[in-house]
Amino acid sequence: TYVVTENCIACKYMDCVEVCPVDCFYEGENTLVIHPDECIDCGVCEPECPAEAISPDTDPDMDRWVEFNRKYSEIW
Ligand code: SF4
Repeated sequence: TYVVTENCIACKYMDCVEVCPVDCFYEGENTLVIHPDECIDCGVCEPECPAEAISPDTDPDMDRWVEFNRKYSEIW
């Protein structure tokens, strides 16, 4: 699963949303999140993000972002 991290905050690009084959981005007021159960781990969005805000959840120190993406993808 991929996660959206803090560089996404206030970013206005939506390139990632356009390329995601399963439409698993959810939009809040200031950021996007990825629904962890819907993401198919294809990796297409990561290089498309101009803010470099998308990372695999296996990267170090991702725990709070994993939690953040899960929580808000269910609310938004
Ligand atoms: Fe969508 Fe693929 Fe990115 Fe997951 S890794 S959010 S499925 S584009």
